[in-house]
Amino acid sequence: MLLEENKKNKKNNMEVCPKCGLPKEACVCETLEKAKQKIQISTEKRKFKEMAVISGIDSRTIDIKKIAKELKKEFACGGTIKNNKIELQGHSDRIQQKSFLRKIQEKLKEMGFSAEVIE
Ligand SMILES: [Zn+2]
Repeated sequence: MLLEENKKNKKNNMEVCPKCGLPKEACVCETLEKAKQKIQISTEKRKFKEMAVISGIDSRTIDIKKIAKELKKEFACGGTIKNNKIELQGHSDRIQQKSFLRKIQEKLKEMGFSAEVIE
């Protein structure tokens, strides 16, 4: 009996957004959250290596690990998450690095974020 109840709760959790109470298909919470975040893409130098750094993602509302994973997959590069920032392995070449940042921006926009490149 208790097991049945648990099953039912689990099912409900999966279907209804805890924030707005709407069914998941109708919920736009994540979309709104993504658009609200001010994401910045810039470069940082670490031991002679240029990193592309994506900051401004609120990990309380957005699954930052998922974003990092998707970016790493898209660009076939290494990366880590540090202090709520995604660091992606960049290019040593300055011009290449610049176009890399633009590509990241495009990808983030595709994912529903508003992102800007800081130069
Ligand atoms: Zn919602």
